[in-house]
Amino acid sequence: MRLKAIKLSGFKSFVDPTTVAFATNMTGIVGPNGCGKSNTIDAVRWVMGESSAKYLRGDAMTDVIFNGSSERKPVGKASVELIFDNTDQTLRGEYAGYNEISVRRQVTRDAQSLYFLNGVKCRRKDITDLFLGTGLGPRSYAIIEQGMISRLIEAKPEELRVYVEEAAGISRYKDRRRETENR
Ligand code: ATP
Ligand code: MG
Repeated sequence: MRLKAIKLSGFKSFVDPTTVAFATNMTGIVGPNGCGKSNTIDAVRWVMGESSAKYLRGDAMTDVIFNGSSERKPVGKASVELIFDNTDQTLRGEYAGYNEISVRRQVTRDAQSLYFLNGVKCRRKDITDLFLGTGLGPRSYAIIEQGMISRLIEAKPEELRVYVEEAAGISRYKDRRRETENR
C-alpha cells in the first residue's frame, strides 16, 4: 500500500484545490516556515478520522476550514482526499481486488463531517476498520511527528503494547472481539 496523492481543498492554508502527488517511495517536502508542510500531515491524520482538534493543532474541529487571509474570504467547507495504490492488496475486506482506493473526508461550518470510500458515502468506522492493522490510522506509528520519539521512549508498557499490537497486525482482531463482546 502506498500513498499516491493527497487532494486538498479549503483545508487549512490550502484554500484552492491542490494535489500533492507522491511519485516515488521517498518524498521530502521542504519550504519556508508557515508554508503548509505540517498542514499536509494534519490532512492525512484528519482523513483517517482524527476527532481531536488539539491533535490537529486547533481548538475546534472547524478550525481545519480555511478561515480567510488578508486577500481571501473564509470558505465554508474543507475536503481532503487520499489516494492509495493498493496493487499489493494490503487493503482487503469489501475493497479486495481494488488497485486504487480513495478515502475522502469533508467538513462544513456546522461541524458535520462526511466520509467517502471510493466516492461512496460511508461511516468513520468503515475507514478506521479498513486501515486497522496496516499501521496507518489517525494516531498510528506510520506518522511520526515532533516529540513522538520521546513519547514512545517514555511510554508505559500498556501504551507501548498498543503500538506492538498494531505492528503485529492483531489490533483488528482485538477490536472485532471487543465489538462482539459488547453486542
Ligand atoms: P514550520 O516550518 O514552521 O513547521 P509549516 O510549513 O509546517 O511551517 P504549517 O504549520 O503547515 O507550516 O502551516 C501554518 C500556516 O497555515 C500558518 O500560516 C497558518 O496561518 C495557516 N493556517 C492554519 N490553519 C489555517 C486555516 N484554518 N485557515 C487559513 N490558514 C491556516
Ligand atoms: Mg511544521
